[in-house]
Amino acid sequence: MRMMAKLASAIALGAMVFAGAASAQEKGTVGVLMPTKASARWIADGDNMVKQLQERGYKTDLQYAEDDIPTQISQLENMVAAGVQTLVIASIDGTTLTDVLQQAHDKGIKVIAYDRLIRNSPNVDYYTTFDNFQVGVLQAQSIVDGLKLETEAGPFNIELFGGSPDDNNAFFFYDGAMSVLQPYVDSGKLVIPSGETGMDRVGTLRWDPAVAQARMDNLLSSYYGDKTVNAVLSPYDGLSIGIISALTAVGYGSGDKPMPIVSGQDAEVPSVKSIQNDQQYSTIFKDTRELAKVTVDMIDAIGQGKEPEVNDTKTYNNGEKVVPSYLLKPVLVTKDNIKPVLVDSGYYTEAQIQP
Ligand code: BGC
Repeated sequence: MRMMAKLASAIALGAMVFAGAASAQEKGTVGVLMPTKASARWIADGDNMVKQLQERGYKTDLQYAEDDIPTQISQLENMVAAGVQTLVIASIDGTTLTDVLQQAHDKGIKVIAYDRLIRNSPNVDYYTTFDNFQVGVLQAQSIVDGLKLETEAGPFNIELFGGSPDDNNAFFFYDGAMSVLQPYVDSGKLVIPSGETGMDRVGTLRWDPAVAQARMDNLLSSYYGDKTVNAVLSPYDGLSIGIISALTAVGYGSGDKPMPIVSGQDAEVPSVKSIQNDQQYSTIFKDTRELAKVTVDMIDAIGQGKEPEVNDTKTYNNGEKVVPSYLLKPVLVTKDNIKPVLVDSGYYTEAQIQP
């Protein structure tokens, strides 16, 4: 009897070991598509995704498209043809992938929209991102705090910048920010001398810092002859750096012309240094390690035939369906909390962000 039991458990163990080995092999390749290497955040995203996928036994194919839409589409077509297990896509233009995602779906490949929603396709299975509306709220809140709007009489002059109009996130950032700023504009405490509002007027195609810098140059020369700009809503660190260059060129940040309160996003190194140097005022930290983790958890769940964990099933309608989403929390960073948020969490070393 005991022999039989031992034999049975040995067989069971063997079967388990065999199943384990087989599933590691069957995990297959995950295709990871990132928009560009021009911004450090996407490099961190790609690195974290590859690291965490490999730790869990997946093969990876990571591609960057240098913000060129046809390049990203052909990268996707190649991955679909190669038969990857899952696609993780941070899109450049979230409206251009409909056809290739149909091909993916027809081959049974699951698709996770990473950070940016993919629009106009029923074939987006899940979405992992940060609470994008909240990003905008925090950016605007930092402007309210930086200007001391609650206690100072004002009025203060502000200019608004939006992100790329082909990126769904840009609208969420802008709407979140305006939910905080609009009441001050309505009461006259904040004034927009250019009168330029709305994403169609203030958007910045492809999040291009040079475009933001040129627009800031124009705003300054057209509307600020006898006025001072006190704050600039900027949705992304790269744009903030461009905006600050335009401001510096006409004397802000020295003498009796203090640097306006300028927001940002992504906690990129040049901006973290700029904040310590009292140039940029704030940024938003989005922990790309966490975003990679929830995405890889989803891929694992899908592979095991389980339902991946999501925490939002109502916000992100992509024009075809509401995409089940996992939203992480963004964190506001100013000069006061750089160390606890960015260094103590191990995201950067002190030396990396030394101004
Ligand atoms: C991301 C931001 C980033 C921006 C520019 C957005 O989709 O959510 O974190 O600043 O793209 O790369």
